[in-house]
Amino acid sequence: MHGTKTYLSETATRLKPSGIRRFFDLAASMEGVISLGVGEPDFITSWSVREACILSLEQGYTSYTANAGLLELRQEIAAYLSRKFQVQYAPETEIIVTVGASQALDLALRTIVNQGDEVIVVEPSFVSYGPLVELAGGVPVPLETRGADEFKIQPEQIESVITSRTKALMLCSPNNPTGTVLHKEELEAIARIVKKHDLLVISDEIYAELTYDEPYTSFPAIEDMRERTILVSGFSKGFAMTGWRLGFVAAPSTILQVMLKIHQYTMMCAPTMAQYAAIEALKHGEQDVEEMKKSYRRRRNYFVQSLNELGLRCHLPGGAFYAFPSIQSTGLTSEQFAEQLLLEERVAVVPGNVFGASGEGYIRCSYASSLEQLQEAIKRMRRFLSRL
Ligand code: PMP
Repeated sequence: MHGTKTYLSETATRLKPSGIRRFFDLAASMEGVISLGVGEPDFITSWSVREACILSLEQGYTSYTANAGLLELRQEIAAYLSRKFQVQYAPETEIIVTVGASQALDLALRTIVNQGDEVIVVEPSFVSYGPLVELAGGVPVPLETRGADEFKIQPEQIESVITSRTKALMLCSPNNPTGTVLHKEELEAIARIVKKHDLLVISDEIYAELTYDEPYTSFPAIEDMRERTILVSGFSKGFAMTGWRLGFVAAPSTILQVMLKIHQYTMMCAPTMAQYAAIEALKHGEQDVEEMKKSYRRRRNYFVQSLNELGLRCHLPGGAFYAFPSIQSTGLTSEQFAEQLLLEERVAVVPGNVFGASGEGYIRCSYASSLEQLQEAIKRMRRFLSRL
């Protein structure tokens, strides 16, 4: 490079690298590590789903699909959303099949954010939200939730961060990293504020399949919210399909048709073979999802109870596959705790502060590991704590 010309985008240069990565890299260089760090199912995608992909390849379906995705898949997605979550979307005009929920989030933000618009991000939050808002030219505004409230949003708090530039609120229930699920009444209280202040909502429902204690309420199913909501979801978590890179977004056609333009220019379409697999997942995958869910529920109960017995206070997370215990009793910071636990006992967890300032004092542990591994992790954590 020559002279003083800046070759790199200021926004991209300013982004902080994901704090999760550092621990993955460290853990990957060590032997005998039990990883409770990664945010993905420990199941392999169902055989019938893999077989549907293989069949599509045998049949030679290797070209692009429609930009919005195979119509048959969009019809299955619409039927699935209606059947499971009582929300109605037109497959022809209100659904786009995306490259994971990740692309859906990016599309949603780029579609609604003007330079300088503020987007409220409920923290602790999935690590991508803030950077995606910034890349779209917006300003992420953190809304901190507290362990004492089981990391639930207090609706009056939302009003305290709303300004004339606030465009949207990003919601994630069940939540990554806290596992917290918002009940219908809690969503209704949020909806009242959304309506009063004329906001949009990006509702990340990627963990909707994985709730353990009560039926799930999808945000657009709340009265008057469908027209204000961009619903983001996908196959990675519930259907154990992270590597397939397949998700979807559903929104009123006035919003979705603008999203489709960005999708056309940036992505063309999601991978064709993965789309065929997803049709099979939606048509016949329900039983397998139920089995996986039962297994996560058993592991959640064991793991969360064990954490509390160790003195690491942890609320019972209603969904996803994360426990988010407090480590404040140890006097260590989240980073110190995670680093020492990894180096001394070879258990990898994620320090809570990477999910936002309000995650400090907590760690994220994924319990999507075998029961034997979880038991061994608890044993090692007990040993670690006894030395402190
Ligand atoms: N949203 C949340 C809350 C997530 O936890 C993840 C994955 N960790 C994603 C979106 C992205 O999922 P996908 O694999 O569908 O891109």
